[in-house]
Amino acid sequence: MRDSYAAGGSGADDIKVAPQGSAAKGFPRPVILIGPPGAGKGTQAKTVAARYGVPHLSTGDMFRDHFGRGTELGVRAKAFMDRGELVPDEIVVAMIEQRIAAPDCAHGFILDGFPRTVAQAEALDRMLGRAGRSEPLVVHVKLDSSLILRRLTGRRMCKVGGEIYNIYDRPPKTPNRCDHDGGELAQRDDDREEVIRERLAAYEEHTQPVVAYYRQRGLVQDLDGSGAPEAVTRALFELIDREEGRGRHL
Ligand SMILES: [Zn+2]
Repeated sequence: MRDSYAAGGSGADDIKVAPQGSAAKGFPRPVILIGPPGAGKGTQAKTVAARYGVPHLSTGDMFRDHFGRGTELGVRAKAFMDRGELVPDEIVVAMIEQRIAAPDCAHGFILDGFPRTVAQAEALDRMLGRAGRSEPLVVHVKLDSSLILRRLTGRRMCKVGGEIYNIYDRPPKTPNRCDHDGGELAQRDDDREEVIRERLAAYEEHTQPVVAYYRQRGLVQDLDGSGAPEAVTRALFELIDREEGRGRHL
């Protein structure tokens, strides 16, 4: 896994075997997925990557890859993290710049978890320009905070097998007991209401200006994230087919 893009061979093979006429042909504009915690962005990004045959780039995966390979960027990033400081944007952007130069990104990619601030969005823009890439298609997943709170504060995990339940939307048959193994269900600290409210406030403060930044340039498409995951996926595919198709004919 750690050499998956350093070698560069797998991307070319993927493109060669992609069935003709299917959706697995990439897209011209990089897709950036932006949405609040609880919107299921990671899952949606993976389904897009699978359908269109493009890599799903997440900053978390990139950090782990650089740490694992002991790269210079990884060493620099880790020094900041060890001091409890944020990794500077230039390091993250440099990681993305290296990553999208790999052959498997030649026909597009989907980015999730970045940019989170306007400064990061500006840095990403300059980098995409340097790389000769098209302007991004920014998909903004919209979700009411009441629904986010319900999804996240309702989550319970089995202490035995790790199964996930939701006391509102997917309750166990017996309250507080796992259907599979009878294990006790517990709430993760990260899912407590005050933690979720803090994350939502941080999202509003830092990320909504990013959406505004892209919106003024006409790059944002809103997506209703309140439906079932499968319905959101269908709407996302339609949106990408429509917008990326239009991009090709400009
Ligand atoms: Zn269980």
